This record gives sequence, structure tokens and C-alpha cells, in this order.
Amino acid sequence: MELKQNYDVVIIGGGPAGVACALLLLRQNIVPLIVEKQSYPCIPMGESLSSEVLKFLSELDLLDAFKALDFPAKYGVKLFSPAKTEEPLWVQCRQRTPEGESVLAESCSVDRREFHRFMLDAAISRGAQYIKGAALAPLFDQNRVCGVKIKTNRGEILSISSQILLDASGHATFLSQHKVAGRRIIPMNKAQIAISSMFKDSREIKTEQRSQMPGNTLLFIKDKRYWSWFIPVTHDWVSVGVVMQPEQFKVKNMPVNQLLNTEIRSFHPELSQILPNLDYQSPVQVTTNFTYSIDTFAGPGWICLADAHRFIDPVFSLGISMAFSESKLAVQCITQWMESECTDDSIFFRYQDQINKGQNAHSNAVEFFWEFPQLFKHFAENKFRLEVSDLFAGRFYGKQNLSNSLFVKMHDKLYNNQIKASSANNAYGIGYEKDIQSRD
Ligand SMILES: Cc1cc2nc3c(=O)[nH]c(=O)nc-3n(C[C@H](O)[C@H](O)[C@H](O)COP(=O)(O)OP(=O)(O)OC[C@H]3O[C@@H](n4cnc5c(N)ncnc54)[C@H](O)[C@@H]3O)c2cc1C
Repeated sequence: MELKQNYDVVIIGGGPAGVACALLLLRQNIVPLIVEKQSYPCIPMGESLSSEVLKFLSELDLLDAFKALDFPAKYGVKLFSPAKTEEPLWVQCRQRTPEGESVLAESCSVDRREFHRFMLDAAISRGAQYIKGAALAPLFDQNRVCGVKIKTNRGEILSISSQILLDASGHATFLSQHKVAGRRIIPMNKAQIAISSMFKDSREIKTEQRSQMPGNTLLFIKDKRYWSWFIPVTHDWVSVGVVMQPEQFKVKNMPVNQLLNTEIRSFHPELSQILPNLDYQSPVQVTTNFTYSIDTFAGPGWICLADAHRFIDPVFSLGISMAFSESKLAVQCITQWMESECTDDSIFFRYQDQINKGQNAHSNAVEFFWEFPQLFKHFAENKFRLEVSDLFAGRFYGKQNLSNSLFVKMHDKLYNNQIKASSANNAYGIGYEKDIQSRD
């Protein structure tokens, strides 16, 4: 592939956010360059997809090709509470029709390596340019970002100019680390550790009932912010992980393999029963400090996307859904800015504002879930059944947000209880109270 020296858009990171953006840009006849440093030998966490993700793939004419990969179908999420006798909460996958009616839908869970290859191949075959290499530093023209310096996997150092630099580098938070975006803030008391692996799934389930289907996501809640997932990613592999706070991890003080075994056996009787043999299919992975936010994440000539500016406790499995929704808004922002002949920089700040509203609704929903688990379950089984399905689908942006009465209810309840009440700076956004600022 012949690299150019100038691109309208250079995307750092070929994960779900970067590739989704590339696919959307191609639809606007903008050919982006994707810079990706990894060749994906590892298995990234985050396999359960929401129904909005499938809708997005359908909008991109990728749904049939995606379905041919035959990932296990997911009809909803089942949440087991610490009270072992209590019936689990069953949240169905649903979609909204263009008229706003909520209808049953399905989704699936994926092996992330295959999903990554599928998305990247789609972008490349449709014309996106791709280079294996690491972004080293942004380039500046006076104070304005105007491109990026990269080191290719063959060791060449290249300087590439861009009208827009899109940071989709995930937890690496590239533009924050280079002091273009704001500092990464890790909220106090919300640091978490996830320990996970892939196991052989030997269940044999034959059923017509949506709530019993083998591909459904199962979540086990033990205590506040102490939970475990069971996500079938192929027809005979399942991803199982445990999320806990660092203090708990320290107290347990044992090698991670042993810890994961012990946790799976003691977490919940149902989890132990459906995984009778701990037949490991991959090394144990540990991820830390994955909840953070960055206040300033867009400006003239640059945009941060998805995990590159914020990551919210993954209990609702919405990372990829959020990445896809944000990609749509980022591409809207880029096309509007180009239509303004690259002069109206206020468009970048409007993008930031829209994203904050959606992300804050998501963050409040997670807070509400941990602070008021019984009330959440009551809402999900009664008055707000459809709104809770909207939440699990990741419908947080624009009209989707404004029309969800549950979001207002949750915000008000949190606010009235003065949980994190100090900085309510957006419509439904309550900020962090005591935070730690970090820049590696
Ligand atoms: C414990 C846990 C469980 C999760 N569970 C789910 C789930 O069930 N469902 C779900 O949807 N989401 C889940 N997520 C979240 C999901 O994995 C992420 O939100 C999603 O991967 C974000 O996509 P992204 O493209 O923003 O970032 P990433 O997927 O991290 O992609 C970023 C890419 O940028 C590349 N990169 C970084 N720096 C550079 C550089 N300098 N130069 C070039 N390339 C670079 C990286 O190699 C990487 O490929 C979970 C996350 C965690 C931590």
C-alpha cells in the first residue's frame, strides 16, 4: 500500500471505535488512515454485544457477513443477585422501531479476535488505508494539532499530516498522555480489577425459551462492585471473569490462576454448577484501573473517541455499543466541520457536549444499579421494563436519552441522596466527587 503524506483523517487505533469510524467515513467518501500497533495475539476483554451493535452492523450492510461467523445468539442478560434464593432478573434484548415501539430482538457475543479481524477486513476491503505501527506523538502547526508521528512495525519513522486526528487508542488515551486532551481522572473508590479466562463450555441446552438459551450473558452479583460474568463466545468456549476492588485482591493474596478457580467455585452456586470442570482455553488475563474519564476530549483538529476519553464500569457490557454510537457522532462532527470549510471549530465542542450527556446517563445508571440494587430490579420487572432494555442496549444519545424517563428518575434519586451531588454539570450528569488525577 502506498502511504500518502496527507490525510483528511488519521485514526490512531484499530479497535471497535477506530474501525467503526473508518467505515462511517468511507460512506462520506473520506478515506482515512488507520494506525494500529498490535496484531492481536491477545484476547481483549469485552465480548457481550448489545442489540444496538447488530443494528449498527446492519446499517453498514455488514450484518449478513457477520451472522455467517455464527457466534452464539444472545437473547438477553440474566442477573443473579447475592440472595441465592431470589429469582434472577431477566432483561430481554429489545430494539426500538423507527416509530419508537419496543420490540424483541437478539444480539450475540463474540470472540474479540475474530470480531476485530472481521471489522478491520471490512474497512480495508472498502478502501480504508491501514498501517501496522505505533503513533508516537501528535504533530503541531503552532498550537493546532496537524498530524501524527508514527513508527511502523518495520522501524520506519513517518510524519503524516491530517486535517483531523482521531484518537481511538482505548485505555492508552494517546492524546491525554501527550497533553492535548485533559488529564485522565480515576474516580476515588471505583478502581477495579478484572481477572478472566476462556473455558470449555460443556453445557448441552436444548430449549425454545429465550431466557434459557445457551448464548445468553449471565452476570453474578456478590456485593457492591464485586461481580462475575459468564459469556459464551463460541459454541464451546465461554469467557468467565471476576471483577473486584484492589483491596479485595490484595487481601486474597494468591496467584491469579488459583484466585480465579477459588472465585468461580465460591461466587454463586449456579456459576459453579454450569462450569463443572475448569478446563482453561487461554491464559488468565488481569486488567486494572479501567474506570476513568477525561474532561476535555475534543478540540480544533482532534477528537478522542470511546475508551480514549472515558471508561465506565463495564457491568452493563456496553463498551462496544458506546464506541459505535460515539463513532456516529464523531463522523457527524467531522463532516459538519468540513462542510463549514474547516472553519467552524465550535462543532468540536458541541460533539463533546453531546457525548458527555450520553456518557453521564450511562454512568448514573451504573451508580444507581450499585447503590439501589433492589429498586433497580423492581423497576426492571415492573414500570421501567422497556427502559431497562433500552439501557442494556446502550441507547443513551440524543433523543434516546431525552425520551427515557428512567434516566431522569435515576438521576433524581442519586441527586436527592447526595451521592456525588457536588458537580452536576450536565443535563443528567453527576460528576465525580473526589477524584484522583493521573497521567502516566
Ligand atoms: C473487564 C471488562 C469487561 C468488558 N466487557 C465488555 C462487554 O462484555 N461488552 C462490551 O461491549 N464491552 C466490554 N468491555 C469494554 C470494551 O472492551 C471496550 O469498551 C472496547 O474495546 C473499546 O473499544 P476502543 O476501540 O475504544 O478501544 P480498544 O478496543 O482498546 O482499541 C484501541 C486500539 O488502539 C491501539 N493503540 C493504542 N495505542 C496506540 C498507538 N499509540 N498507536 C497505534 N495503535 C494504538 C490498541 O492496540 C487497540 O487495538 C469490557 C471492558 C473491560 C475492561
